[in-house]
Amino acid sequence: MSTIKTPPERIPRSICHEFVEFIPEILAPDTLYISIEFTTAAHLCFCGCGTKVVTPIRPTGWRFIFDGETVSLRPSIGNWGFSCRSHYWIRNSKIIWARPMTDAAIERGRMRDRYLTDHYFAETSAAHVTDAPSKSEATSRPSPLRRILGKSDD
Ligand SMILES: [Zn+2]
Repeated sequence: MSTIKTPPERIPRSICHEFVEFIPEILAPDTLYISIEFTTAAHLCFCGCGTKVVTPIRPTGWRFIFDGETVSLRPSIGNWGFSCRSHYWIRNSKIIWARPMTDAAIERGRMRDRYLTDHYFAETSAAHVTDAPSKSEATSRPSPLRRILGKSDD
């Protein structure tokens, strides 16, 4: 049970936020930068490893909540790709640490992300298909245009 230790820096603490037009090249620690213009947010991984974490604010990405004083991001931020593998929430400008995840749990999270993304794009493309006059009918029957073109050779 003592194989996973919580590093001392993973304590709940408050962060700052800054609204910017462009995400700066060099980020200050414990600060969430938000660009409404580019619908994205960025910060340095709160574990202190110094990795830049970019969280796009999209229907398939993160939702950003600003209550006039504090900021929140949903869902949680899971840095599975980094060696630190830190996982935390930003809620009301506070870092809330999740317990370290197992590989299986990480895979489940990825599958869920994929499902949500596929589902979202399936919905948007379905909307396009219903706008077009029955596409399947057009492909299953010989194209009238083709016949006309064939005749024009005579
Ligand atoms: Zn980290």
